[in-house]
Amino acid sequence: MKITDIETILLRQPEVKLIGDGTQDVLILKIYTDEDIVGIGEVHTAPYIAKAVIEAPSSHIASRGLKEILIGENPLDIEVLWKKMYEGTVVYGRRGVAIHAISGIDIALWDILGKYLNQPIYTLLGGSFREEVPVYASVLMPNSPKQAADLAENMVKEGFSAIKFGWGGLLDEDTEKLTNFVRTIRDIVGPEVDLMIDIGQPLELHQAIELAQRLEEYKVYFLEEPLSPDHLKSYAKLREKASVKITAGEKESTKYGFQDLIDHKAVDIIQPDLARAGGFTEVRKIHSYASIRGIDVIPHCWSTDILVAATLHMIASMPDCRYLEYAVVDTPLRKFVTEHPIQHERGTVQILDGPGLGVELNQETINKYR
Ligand code: MG
Repeated sequence: MKITDIETILLRQPEVKLIGDGTQDVLILKIYTDEDIVGIGEVHTAPYIAKAVIEAPSSHIASRGLKEILIGENPLDIEVLWKKMYEGTVVYGRRGVAIHAISGIDIALWDILGKYLNQPIYTLLGGSFREEVPVYASVLMPNSPKQAADLAENMVKEGFSAIKFGWGGLLDEDTEKLTNFVRTIRDIVGPEVDLMIDIGQPLELHQAIELAQRLEEYKVYFLEEPLSPDHLKSYAKLREKASVKITAGEKESTKYGFQDLIDHKAVDIIQPDLARAGGFTEVRKIHSYASIRGIDVIPHCWSTDILVAATLHMIASMPDCRYLEYAVVDTPLRKFVTEHPIQHERGTVQILDGPGLGVELNQETINKYR
């Protein structure tokens, strides 16, 4: 089999706001082969920039566009192609957008392999440890305590047993106000629900320490990204000063990036994103590195159902992953990019059984937002 073409499909809603919601535009990929199998992937990044990484003509041997590297190659040689893409972009790549683009291609290559063998991707990864996965509702933080309280109440009514509030709104308040808010939410949801806080925009170290210590009393399950992703020594200091679990990693890519995060003792839980960190090929290595060092993995997942499907296959193959992140947001690209949206049932999602990723694109949504 040979790769014959790669199509980039850029989708964008009419109005894009400067908020912490990465489902306002997306880049989807289709990899075509000479055997009528088409692989689907998604890159979760700045879509226009990733599109250029894929389509750019080569500048020289180590500064190439991904499409030129892949045309004519056997799509089943996934590990070989990953190395070729890494080495062919090494001058401008190594982390960030080049790896994001490689991630989307890797997802599409695994989709091709699954369709070729007529097996779901989790089988190709070694089989599934489960038939369903508990999810945590991931919501954007509202601007008022009343809105946040109503939202928490609705999430519990819908059956979620874990809820994360992230990015902006009340999270921009000082640590005292934020702690008061968490106390109110804890009272509403009761003691059994796992409550997570995702700061999003980094704090100063002293603020992060103060917040983490205050949150201990309200049994916050984890505190996500309280610091800049490059301040690994500050992360380690924070962990020495507070007992609440610290998580990060959605902005990290490759095993080397996660090695830094883990070796600095920066986090208790890592959150690789399948469509940023290097796809299945790299995230399974990241998971191995983490698990033998006692670090948990709960992937970041805030995008279309292509990413949700990929993340489900990855989680199915991991014996120890506690949650799927389930973004509760009403954008059309979050909800309607594939046929048969992946729904939760009382806070649980079923593993997908179709060949490859097990999802098909919704052509109506593609035509409307392309
Ligand atoms: Mg986050």
